[in-house]
Amino acid sequence: MDYKAAMFDFDGTITKKGHFAPDKDMTDALFRLSQEMPIGFCTGRQLESFVSHGLDELLINIDKNNHEAFLKNLFLFGENGAIGYFFSTQSNNFEEFYRVDWPSSFIDEDELRNILDEAVKGVGSVYYNAHRVVVVIRTRLHYQEHKDVEEVYALSDQLYKITLDTLRSITPDFEKYVHVGNSGIGVVVCPADGDKDTGIQKFAEFLREKRGENIGEKAREIVVVGDRPELSGNDHYFLNGQYGTPYTVGSLIKNAKYPMPVLDNKGHRLLHAQGTIHLINSILA
Ligand SMILES: [Mg+2]
Repeated sequence: MDYKAAMFDFDGTITKKGHFAPDKDMTDALFRLSQEMPIGFCTGRQLESFVSHGLDELLINIDKNNHEAFLKNLFLFGENGAIGYFFSTQSNNFEEFYRVDWPSSFIDEDELRNILDEAVKGVGSVYYNAHRVVVVIRTRLHYQEHKDVEEVYALSDQLYKITLDTLRSITPDFEKYVHVGNSGIGVVVCPADGDKDTGIQKFAEFLREKRGENIGEKAREIVVVGDRPELSGNDHYFLNGQYGTPYTVGSLIKNAKYPMPVLDNKGHRLLHAQGTIHLINSILA
């Protein structure tokens, strides 16, 4: 298929598992792709975290003369898809083009932050004063410099279970209001109508309206790549095939049409950054 745009989860998809910034070879691949089509990152991170740990790291590895050519095709779907930005080369900044509201009819957001922070004590903590829409919980190892990635993933699993139990105790049908995703390095609680599938739809709308792209209702012309498609993962709604053409470079859902695995020429699965680079190269070939 001739794709018109591409969307990438960040952690574990364009980074190696347990790494926080993309390598040079990933940056090269993303830059080449951005010269053929708009690219968007769809991540649990908020704008400032994406800029300082994502964009700035990418730009270090891109020739200064090429920065504008890269940035004018760059989009960010932050906070797990709850807020979308395009990069304006005029203002030299990300500009917001949509934002989904927190579902206050479920529970006041600050109240939920306090309840969850108490519930996860010893395992992690709520991230305060950073995200505009979503609630994010980090593991207690988050600020530790040298950490065992498997231990982080195990703590994140615990955070996920505690978060579900807590939400269920507020109301058993909490999923009408919020989704919970486990990214492997933490847990995000986002509005049910502001998950990563919303990001794909909003990206498609923007490209139709502002760039005149012919993108169908299901947005299959947008290739989407992530690593956590399982029900508990923060890419579940990104990669379930409702919208876009989804690929996984992490867990695989048995007997499901989507997401598709990334395979090398011997049919072996390629994971995380290695898989994403291979997929980009095959799109560009
Ligand atoms: Mg990920």
